[in-house]
Amino acid sequence: MPLNPLDLYDVRSLLSEEERAVQDTVARFTDERVLPIIGDCFDQARFPKELVPEIAELGLLGSSLPEQYGGHGLNAVSYGLICQELERGDSGIRSFVSVQSSLCMYPIYAYGSEEQRMRWLPGMARGEIIGCFGLTEPHGGSDPANMKTNAKRDGDDWILNGAKMWITNGNLADIAIVWAQTDDGIQGFVVEKGMKGFTAQEVHKKMSLRASVTSALFFDAVRVPEANRLPNVKGLKGPLGCLTQARYGITWGPIGAAQACLDEALKYGAERILFGRPITSNQAVQLKLADMARRITMAQLLSLQLGRLKDAGAMQPTHVSLAKWNNCRMAIDIARETRDVLGGAGITTEHCAIRHALNLESVITYEGTETVHQLVVGRELTGINAF
Ligand SMILES: Cc1cc2nc3c(=O)[nH]c(=O)nc-3n(C[C@H](O)[C@H](O)[C@H](O)COP(=O)(O)OP(=O)(O)OC[C@H]3O[C@@H](n4cnc5c(N)ncnc54)[C@H](O)[C@@H]3O)c2cc1C
Repeated sequence: MPLNPLDLYDVRSLLSEEERAVQDTVARFTDERVLPIIGDCFDQARFPKELVPEIAELGLLGSSLPEQYGGHGLNAVSYGLICQELERGDSGIRSFVSVQSSLCMYPIYAYGSEEQRMRWLPGMARGEIIGCFGLTEPHGGSDPANMKTNAKRDGDDWILNGAKMWITNGNLADIAIVWAQTDDGIQGFVVEKGMKGFTAQEVHKKMSLRASVTSALFFDAVRVPEANRLPNVKGLKGPLGCLTQARYGITWGPIGAAQACLDEALKYGAERILFGRPITSNQAVQLKLADMARRITMAQLLSLQLGRLKDAGAMQPTHVSLAKWNNCRMAIDIARETRDVLGGAGITTEHCAIRHALNLESVITYEGTETVHQLVVGRELTGINAF
């Protein structure tokens, strides 16, 4: 039996029946609904909002949450596979689901009151309420403790002032989870679209994640009711807890992007005849392809073990940092190599390599840059904070 080039070690055989069913469902959605349109969406810098009801219908929004909140109680490995299959389509689609599920629904579930959970989560699972997550500020995302956005108590309300930058889903969102300094440390607030003084401004001229909405958010004395403050967390551990969830999913996403690129390199290379034979007959090309398969295999095994640790309650942020660093680096290198194997054809969005390569420039930067994750691992090894 020939091996599957995109899964040389048959990692799929390590999945449960339910996990495989989840993977197959999302793979079908990506093949049938995402791949036919995504090149054009990227060209036109358009997020395909028309897919949101289907994404919700498939149960991909807040899929790990309990059923009473609209979720399906899926395990961490299933959530990872959702991210992998969506990002095989495009990082922008996966980013939409990551932000909605891990950065917006998760904090409402983990840090919100029961009333807040029932108010927002079921509608978010149905895709009727879209969320965004505002942590990064214009003066520097790698140091979130230096947060300038602030909220001051005023009777039954809070007055919010400040700005957030690079916010995925910003202009699409009905609610924003906004982290702000208070007299009692950093706290999270659910800011609703239409609240006076709250504006979102889309970031244009992006060359990466073009099929995703990215925005700046501005808060000019926005009056937020106490009922919209997330009561069950204080301090940086609030937003960092959300990021650990989202980064976990991000370790899986780039595997899908890399698989799409290797698949493209194999198919294109077999048909591209130069010097009288397919370019895949050349040792130099085979070395590239073999190295892609090696790196994808290692990333698959890394994320699967990470998922098993998460499901066992043993996952630590350092585990996530190492996998996010490794898998983003793996995928961006493979996307660039594939672009090279395709020669000139590789520079157009008729093929996926350049789109994935450009998207991965964001994925390797957001939710902690590559350097930040390397420093997290270094701190674990040495006990010295080198930030
Ligand atoms: C497309 C996109 C979508 C995003 N979506 C969201 C979102 O939904 N919500 C949100 O809150 N944020 C979001 N972000 C922001 C993202 O998380 C930040 O861009 C990221 O954290 C880096 O922050 P920065 O861009 O301000 O870079 P900076 O923090 O200014 O970093 C600049 C450089 O300095 C390096 N650096 C920083 N500190 C150190 C150090 N101590 N030692 C060595 N090197 C260092 C970094 O690695 C980087 O190379 C998004 C970003 C992008 C591009």
